[in-house]
Order: sequence, then C-alpha cells, then structure tokens
Amino acid sequence: MKILTILGARPQFIKAGTVSREIAKHKEIEEIIVHTGQHYDANMSDIFFEEMQIPKPDYFLGIGGKSHGAMTGQMIEKIEEVALKEKPDWIMVYGDTNSTLAGALVAAKLHIKLAHIEAGLRSFNMNMPEEVNRILTDRVSNILFCPTDAAVQNLKNEGYDNFRCKVVKSGDVMQDGALFYKNLAVKPSFDIKDDFILCTIHRAENTDDEIRLRGIFEALEEIAKVANSGCEANFPRKEKQIILPLHPRTKNILNNLKLNIQNLTLIDPVGYLEMVWLIDNCSLVMTDSGGLQKEAYFFEKPCITLRDETEWVELVEVGANTLVGADKDKILDAYKTHKPLSTNYQSLNLYGGGKASENIIKELLEY
Ligand code: UDP
Repeated sequence: MKILTILGARPQFIKAGTVSREIAKHKEIEEIIVHTGQHYDANMSDIFFEEMQIPKPDYFLGIGGKSHGAMTGQMIEKIEEVALKEKPDWIMVYGDTNSTLAGALVAAKLHIKLAHIEAGLRSFNMNMPEEVNRILTDRVSNILFCPTDAAVQNLKNEGYDNFRCKVVKSGDVMQDGALFYKNLAVKPSFDIKDDFILCTIHRAENTDDEIRLRGIFEALEEIAKVANSGCEANFPRKEKQIILPLHPRTKNILNNLKLNIQNLTLIDPVGYLEMVWLIDNCSLVMTDSGGLQKEAYFFEKPCITLRDETEWVELVEVGANTLVGADKDKILDAYKTHKPLSTNYQSLNLYGGGKASENIIKELLEY
C-alpha cells in the first residue's frame, strides 16, 4: 500500500510524525511525504523534522506566505503533479489548513482514496478559514478518522450515515504524541520562574481584529503585573511569569500595533520537545490554539481558551477548559477563578488513550 501524506503547517508535523512512526512498523506500507511549505521557517518547520525524527519529506513544494487563494491553488497544481507521478493508493491529510484542502481536492479529482485525520470537528463559525477547509475535506473523504465522540456526532448530524464513506472513531493522534514525547521533554534555556503561565495566540480571528488582540494583551499584561491577585489559595508563590512563544503572524501584527508590552516573556516559537516541557511544568495554559487546549488536558493543566467557540467541546463540558473569548474583563475573571485540574478527568478517556495511530493504520489496511 502506498500512502501520499500531505502536510505543511506546524500542528500537522506533530500529528503526522506520530502516524509515520506507526506506518514505519509495517513493511507493506510505503509512505511518501509531501511538505507544501505553508510553514517554512526554521522554528516553525525544520526543528520538528529534526528533533521529532519525522521522516524527511520526499517533496518540498515551497508554497508559503501567499493569500489563501494563491496558496491553495498552487498547492493543488503541485500536489496533482506528485500524485500523478506517484500513483498512491491513499492520500492522507490532517486537520484543517489550506494544505489539507488542497490534498483533499486533488484526491477527489484524481479518484484517489482520501483519508482525513481529525475529521468531524466543527466550530460552527464559517468565518474561520479552518472551518471551511475541514467541512469541504470531510465531504470528499472516503474514510474519516474522528478524534472524539462529538466529532462522530457532528458527522451524523450532517447526514454522513447516508454518504458513501466510512466514519471511524480513532481517538486523537495528538494524545499518542503527547504520551510519546513526555519523556523526551527538554527544558528551554531562557530564565523560567517556578510558577508560570504558558500562552499562545495565533488564530486569525484574534490577530486580525485589533479590538480582540488589544483585549487579550491588556489582560495578559495585567495578570503578569498583579501576579497573584485573587488566586493566592491556588498559587501561593508570589512571582508569576507569562511565557508566550510568538507565532510569526502574531509577532508581525504586534510590532505594527505598537502595544505597550512590558511584563510578558515573549519568545520565538520553540520546538516540540521544549514545548512539551513548558506544558508539563506550567500552572495554567491560556491559548487560542486547538492543539494546545488538548495538550493542557493531557498534562493535567487547566486551560483558559481565548476564543468564542471550540471544537473540543468535551473539555468545556467536563470543566477542564474555560471559553472566554477576547474581552479583557472576562479573561481576568476567568484567571481569578480558575482552579488546578483534578486528576480524575483522565479516567474519562476522551481522546482514545494513545492508540489513535494504531487504530488508523489498522483501519486502512483492512479497508
Ligand atoms: N507548539 C510548539 N511550539 C510553539 C507553539 C506551539 O511546538 O512555540 C505546538 C503546540 O504544542 C501544539 C501545536 O504546536 O502541539 C499547535 O500548533 P498551533 O497552535 O500552531 O495550531 P492549532 O493547534 O491551533 O491548529
């Protein structure tokens, strides 16, 4: 069996790395990796391939830093060329980026079977480019690997029982990765205080909206300044640091806005092994990232999500995640009232317990 894996953005390297490790156990499967180049910086791409031992891409398309239309169009053209040459049995795509959609359209048009990993997720916000990408990709997939019960239910609600495709609850490949890399975590070399909050902001709905971005950063500044106000019972230490690995998009926009940021530890994006250390050792995660919301839970950390909706609804339902949006006062309220996670959440096994990659490859072999 020959699988053409399409990836291009940071979270896809992390997810695909885990599945590639499982594929490598099967001599009967050949994997050809196409990197579209959507993320191409050293610290958003190269480092993941080096330190996570992800197989080197067989094709690098070099298509990044363009508008949605130009990027997706050029990806379709180039992926089609590769697919015609390689003649894979399957095209495998991950998540919800432009690279995902481009790979999906090529598969559909060339009648190559399509497997979508992280299928069925919905924010129900069609202004998100990710929501458009994932809905269109799901619709042309032959096999849809859903990470959660909620994702399976979303597909049922959209009538997928009547479509010619297979919906499988595989579990979440990010949990497989988190379990694997936990023991390989590396402490970053910059000055880190005993008690710190880990924060990431990169989603377009926040970065491209000045009011939202200001609300978030004003709240973070205030938390860092008045560190423990209202939270002494939970976090008795006096000093609290907010560590924020800045996505390149956020960095550019912040520079242009000239926000007065004095109390946050702004750093360049870190590799996954350092990221895992930061998640494992922080006291709280504040983020608009999809992946990080789950990783907070895998490492038993509370999470405040700086979005109006989430695809990971089960985390909100069990009380591990608080959705606050981007309003300064709401963020401060959520910070003041948050509590450490109690460990019994793990027993709920919301994400498959680390067996997702195994389930996915087994299904593909049996298809
Ligand atoms: N991540 C990382 N280094 C960083 C910031 C994030 O390795 O400096 C990881 C993070 O732990 C998660 C993934 O990148 O596994 C999430 O990527 P991102 O937030 O860009 O995308 P999303 O999950 O929102 O699609």
